[in-house]
Amino acid sequence: MNTTQKTIGVLALQGDFEAHKRVFEGLGWKTEEVRTKRDLDSVDALVIPGGESTTLGKLLARIGLDTEITQRANEGMPLFGTCAGMIMLAKRIQDRPEQPSLQLMDITVARNAFGRQVESFETDIPFRLGGDSETIVHGVFIRAPYVVETGKGVEILSLFHDKIVAVRQGNRLAIAFHPELTNDSRVHAYFAKMVESGSITGDCSPLP
Ligand code: GLN
Repeated sequence: MNTTQKTIGVLALQGDFEAHKRVFEGLGWKTEEVRTKRDLDSVDALVIPGGESTTLGKLLARIGLDTEITQRANEGMPLFGTCAGMIMLAKRIQDRPEQPSLQLMDITVARNAFGRQVESFETDIPFRLGGDSETIVHGVFIRAPYVVETGKGVEILSLFHDKIVAVRQGNRLAIAFHPELTNDSRVHAYFAKMVESGSITGDCSPLP
């Protein structure tokens, strides 16, 4: 439950932003669709949903939201990226050095990394939702990326077949799958707690 009156923004340029809104609203949070710099000014956190990361990158640059999000993030705004959103947050994209991303987490991601034969699948995976104990969440993977390398200060929250599928760096959270497409809101509640506390843990300094 939101006791802070903060608003969670959901980037609504492309992709499955409505599903994220529904989950946060179900948890009692106010949400706002973010399409402009002005929208961004009125929110306290930002979700970057799944979609298509090259398109998302182009749209962000065209509107100038890329620099704006970076600035807010460096001022401490919590960020949550799922799937294409994870790719947008990554500092490096494997084999695609030319693809623009926000470079806000010290991770290297591989796109469409689970192979073209199995583009989409669902499975139960262990997830560290706070503390050291693992819980099982249902993962919906849709042409999902995974993390191939993590830098200093990046906490691994979930592994699937030894592949890193969820990471946190300070108040930035990135997940390769789609928790918004299940009835389980615990991953969103985990992010909401980050927003609520407003605290920045771990190394979240601006990346060089
Ligand atoms: N495959 C997409 C990309 O690389 C991400 C897919 C998704 O967000 N569901 O951009």
